[in-house]
Amino acid sequence: MRIDVVTIFPTYFEPLEMSLLGRARGRGLLDIRVHDLREWTHDRHRTVDDTPYGGGAGMVMKPEPWGEALDAVTVDAHDPVILFPSPAGVLFTQAMARELAGEERLVFGCGRYEGIDERVFDYAGSIGRVRLVSLGDYVLNGGEVATMAMIEAIGRLVPGVIGNPESLVEESHEDGLLEYPGFTKPSTWRGREVPSVLLSGNHGAIARWRREQQLERTRERRPDLLDGEDGDDAR
Ligand code: SAM
Repeated sequence: MRIDVVTIFPTYFEPLEMSLLGRARGRGLLDIRVHDLREWTHDRHRTVDDTPYGGGAGMVMKPEPWGEALDAVTVDAHDPVILFPSPAGVLFTQAMARELAGEERLVFGCGRYEGIDERVFDYAGSIGRVRLVSLGDYVLNGGEVATMAMIEAIGRLVPGVIGNPESLVEESHEDGLLEYPGFTKPSTWRGREVPSVLLSGNHGAIARWRREQQLERTRERRPDLLDGEDGDDAR
C-alpha cells in the first residue's frame, strides 16, 4: 500500500520510522511518503493561508497549493482514497480502518488553522474518492495527529504487517465489543490474583468467561456499542 501525506509539518511523521510500521516500511509492505505543502507555494514567504471571505476569526488554507499538491501526489494513482481529517467529518472506526487497509493508494491532507478552503474537497473528488474523517468529538490544532492515528490503525491491518494475524481477531471493536482483560505472570502481584478460571486449563470455561467479560465491560463503558444490536451474535 502507498500512503501520501501532505502537511505543513512533515517532521510530525518521523515516529512512523519506528516499531511495527517502521519495519513494514523497511520490508516494502508500506510505502509512506510525506510531503511539505509549502513545496507547492510560489511566493517568497511560502504562504499557505489567508483571511476568510465573509470575515471571522482565524485563517483558511489557500486552495492553490492544495490543488498542485494533490495533482502531484496522485499523478500516477488510479482512483485513490483522499482523506481529509476534520472534526466535521464522519467518525473514524475500526470498520473503516479495515476497509481502507484493502486499498492500494491513500492520500491524507492535513488541515491547519481554521481548515482548508472548501473547494479543495470538491476538486479532490475529481481525482479520487474523498472522505472527511473525524478522530472524535473534539478539536485538534491540525490534521497531523489524526492522520498518524489513522495510518497506525490502517497500517497494522495490512496483511503481513503484524506477524501473528490472530492477534488482530480478538481485539476491541473487531466484533463490536471491547476486548476481555489480559493477565500475565506472576499469578499473584501485590496481593492481586489472576482470575482462577484462567489458570484452570479449561478452554471452554476460559472462552465463556472472556465473552462475559467482553459483554460486561462493553455494557459498563460503551453501552452505545450495544445500541441497535437486537440479540444477534454480539450478545
Ligand atoms: N474550524 C474547524 C472546525 O470547527 O471544524 C477546526 C479546524 S482545526 C483547528 C484544524 C485542523 O485540525 C482541521 O482542518 C483538521 O485537519 C484537524 N482536526 C481538528 N480536530 C480534528 C478531529 N477531531 N478529527 C480529525 N481532524 C481534526
